[in-house]
Amino acid sequence: MPTYPPEPFRIKVTESIRLIPPAEREKALKEAGYNLFAVKAEDIFIDLLTDSGTGAMSQEQWAAIMRGDESYAGARSFFRLKQAVEDIFGFNYFVPAHQGRAAENILAACLVKPGQYLPSNMHFDTTDANIRARGGHPTNLVIEEAFDPANPHPFKGNMDIAKLNGFIEKVGAAKVPLGMVTVTNNAGGGQPVSMENLKAIADVYHTSGIPLFIDAARYAENCFFIKQREPGYAQKSIKEIAHEMFALADGMTMSAKKDAIVNIGGLLCMNDEKLFENVKNELILREGFPTYGGLAGRDLDAMAVGLYEGLDEAYLAYRLGQTAYLATRINEAGIPTIQPAGGHAVYLDAAAVLPHIPQSEFPGQALCVELYREGAIRGVEIGSVMFAHTDADTGQMVYPKLELLRLAIPRRTYTQSHMDYVADTLARIKKRSASIRGYKFTYAPELLRHFTARFEPL
Ligand SMILES: *Cc1c(COP(=O)(O)O)cnc(C)c1O
Repeated sequence: MPTYPPEPFRIKVTESIRLIPPAEREKALKEAGYNLFAVKAEDIFIDLLTDSGTGAMSQEQWAAIMRGDESYAGARSFFRLKQAVEDIFGFNYFVPAHQGRAAENILAACLVKPGQYLPSNMHFDTTDANIRARGGHPTNLVIEEAFDPANPHPFKGNMDIAKLNGFIEKVGAAKVPLGMVTVTNNAGGGQPVSMENLKAIADVYHTSGIPLFIDAARYAENCFFIKQREPGYAQKSIKEIAHEMFALADGMTMSAKKDAIVNIGGLLCMNDEKLFENVKNELILREGFPTYGGLAGRDLDAMAVGLYEGLDEAYLAYRLGQTAYLATRINEAGIPTIQPAGGHAVYLDAAAVLPHIPQSEFPGQALCVELYREGAIRGVEIGSVMFAHTDADTGQMVYPKLELLRLAIPRRTYTQSHMDYVADTLARIKKRSASIRGYKFTYAPELLRHFTARFEPL
């Protein structure tokens, strides 16, 4: 048995969860069009749909909620958040936003014009969609190792520097309004990016006069991986590593629902004063006044406290240890997962579990449905439902390289016995995997279709 790190906290408030019988699960699936996003939370036993905004806040965060200053402009809460953001990230300017995608939308509104290109290691789905919505072309240039689930490369989130150079040369730096990099790489398995690679990325962008924005949703987990895996960082604090990381960039977007351990919130930071002026105007139009950005004062205070808790090494060691434990137990059941285990989630290789289901019949979605059917557990497909699209030039369907089922672990929420329940459920599914069949769409919108699509079993 792999070891499980004891939680560095004890539980003061509980929330009941309930395991409904198999017949009720079948009914819930049918009503939801076999899309787990449409299943009611009360019909789910273990919810691993996302680690976004689903974590447990600490007593310090709840105390901070009570201190929230709900003044429309210049609230005390804003200045407490400002202090934390400046201390940790060090950019000249920032605005709060209600989520990561709101920050992305505002950044794209200010910088992206139709026909422009935005390279990254891998854009997350909302980033990808926000760039496309402005007529831009998001481009993923992660290293090849990222597409080999068994490859144990310690920094599989790294960008391929030769590809990045070649790409900028091909499209021309003038057509690249900004470059990005996602830490950790959510769409590619929650895999970290090394400091060495971040330095090389910044170098390439800056040599061509292109600003670098970091998608920093899970920057603290990425910094902890750097501390564990990259030579020269073992003695540095997570905050020192974060300082080094953000000093390389010209700005960042962040979903605070991840490493700031809040239920709602986001950040957009930048060094450029002119951009900041434009961002503020766009923010006022879409989100709210620049000192609250679509959030309540109490949310800003919870974020200010959560940003520091996310940097705590005892917490990070427990968090990454919990993820690695679940991955190992699932592997012991004969199910391959992306190696090494990511930070926030375990990514099951659905194509390997269901090799008889072609990509056009959504093997990741099939495994996702089966996990609910067997154990009332909710995960999310990261495969063809999320990423397959018709190529604008050729009219051909383009399928992603991996068909994954992601089990994201909410922060400080579930215990070891919950993880064991998930692994045991998957072991039972594995035994009857040959009889599992694929799915087809009965409805699918154009952008971000995984949220609202409906399916029918084949
Ligand atoms: C969650 C996430 C986002 C989007 O943030 P929301 O708060 O969900 O809008 C962007 N990038 C990455 C890497 C994410 O994980």
